[in-house]
Amino acid sequence: MNLSDNAIRVLERRYLSKDEAGRLLEDADGMFHRVAKAVAAADAAYVSEAELQTIENEFYEMMAGLEFLPNSPTLMNAGRPLGQLSACFVLPIEDTMEGIFETLKNAAMIHKSGGGTGFSFSRLRQKGASVNTTGGVASGPISFMKVFNAATEAVKQGGTRRGANMGILRVDHPDILEFITAKKDNADITNFNISVGITEEFMKAVEENREYDLIDPHKKVVTGQLNAREVFDVIVDMAWSNGEPGIIFLDRLNEKNATPELGAFESTNPCGEQPLLPYESCNLGSINLSLMIKNTRNKAAVDFERIGTVVKKAVHFLDNVIDVNKYPLPEIDQMTKGNRKIGLGVMGWADMLYQLKIPYNSQQAIELAEQVMSFIQKQAKTASAKLAELKGVFSNYDQSIYAQQGVRLRNATTTTIAPTGTLSIIAGVSSGIEPLFALSYIRNVMDNDELIETNPYFEQVAKDGQFYSNKLMKTIANRGTIKGLTEIPEAIQQIFVTAHDISPEWHVRMQASFQKYTDNAVSKTVNLSSKATREDVKDVFNLAYKTGCKGVTIYRDGSRDLQVLNIGKVN
Ligand code: UDP
Repeated sequence: MNLSDNAIRVLERRYLSKDEAGRLLEDADGMFHRVAKAVAAADAAYVSEAELQTIENEFYEMMAGLEFLPNSPTLMNAGRPLGQLSACFVLPIEDTMEGIFETLKNAAMIHKSGGGTGFSFSRLRQKGASVNTTGGVASGPISFMKVFNAATEAVKQGGTRRGANMGILRVDHPDILEFITAKKDNADITNFNISVGITEEFMKAVEENREYDLIDPHKKVVTGQLNAREVFDVIVDMAWSNGEPGIIFLDRLNEKNATPELGAFESTNPCGEQPLLPYESCNLGSINLSLMIKNTRNKAAVDFERIGTVVKKAVHFLDNVIDVNKYPLPEIDQMTKGNRKIGLGVMGWADMLYQLKIPYNSQQAIELAEQVMSFIQKQAKTASAKLAELKGVFSNYDQSIYAQQGVRLRNATTTTIAPTGTLSIIAGVSSGIEPLFALSYIRNVMDNDELIETNPYFEQVAKDGQFYSNKLMKTIANRGTIKGLTEIPEAIQQIFVTAHDISPEWHVRMQASFQKYTDNAVSKTVNLSSKATREDVKDVFNLAYKTGCKGVTIYRDGSRDLQVLNIGKVN
């Protein structure tokens, strides 16, 4: 099996079964067999024993070959007693003491099982509002968010990974300004990513430079007004100085709600790629695009046939996960099985572009992104329709937009682009649809030896072009970019771009082109240089809105050291 030392270390620390003394009970191969068997078991009622074995083998090969990997909880927990296989959950927070603490308990249970939780705090009455039963005053959504944060700190996710949360507040909540500045201090609310829930009405008010209404969620009355541009500027200012809050376009999420009759989206999962209804969960999986390349007559091209084959198997796999999953709550069991949402996405996109010799920041890359993702989306829907013929449509189908369209599907959604923070380490590829941060890294190993790790595609090109040397790779590791290194041909400098060579505009356009063909949302961080201005941040927000993104997260280099989820680093 083609696993790097790094991948093996990650697997040994968190993923492989161990006995009570901490001794490993399986290796990576054993893990993939365990997961394949557990997930294939969902077909036992539909196929013969021989066919079941074939399905299990297919699942195993697709994972062991690193063509497709399911999200971390599936790798960790399938075929083991815990059996919780989803990465993403959204829980409702009702405006009552019982409701708030019931959800807190439920969130703790989910964190213990390796899942991440998203919440909207928008239903909670504002700070200072009256509380009927005690005659006192309410402490407001931000103070409860801090309670959730503290609880998360205390639960170490059953030794697998730290709990991650998304906190959302609608822009028309009376406490919105306190929320926007809640993470001003880097050390506060560290177990949450926060995003402002932006409405169409708010965006219109920004454009027209006017006031918009703040609404008491409890009494449903207008409590006051704020100038939309001023609020927008505070969001921009905070994001510029700290990377947070992000923004999500709530009305836009809801326009794409496949089951509006069952409720509205109020929140996404922690990294923003998965809008869910209250009590819904979703399991994700990613195709490794860096392998989906064929070489004909010495020219690399996208291997669409291979992608198609993997998509079909991956949809089958993810759909099976829904049935073998052990849900932390009966409500989640019911909602998840009712809509059967799955989120198939990609990783290794930047590595694919390197192999095709297409710069990430080019029109050609944007067009290819649309071509690849629209193909995946179409194949995923076809696979879901095939499954529906065999096993039936999702049980809430009659209340879905698909019933009106007469499209029979087994899954209310099929595609999501996840960050693949750990999956990409396991597969040894670039994460999600992000560009690489650096083409080579220096890693300190024992006895202060320095080990230089170079991106394999760049290393090959450097060797073929006869400009490879340890010294040069070390220089690149220190600089972060190859731009301006005279020993590297100009054409190669243009292809092997890294995050900071790419202007924010291309980051957003790339996100938008994947979003166009993704049912759910796209995980992406728009990287800005440390010199970027507040105006640059504002441009990013506006462009994300204009190009149809469902939300946007920015990070200005050096603006903070601590992140809830350090992409590419195992927590
Ligand atoms: N997630 C989490 N804790 C973590 C990392 C991820 O709860 O430490 C959840 C969260 O909902 C996130 C989702 O898993 O949005 C997918 O993250 P990613 O793709 O990075 O996970 P991977 O499967 O690669 O571990």
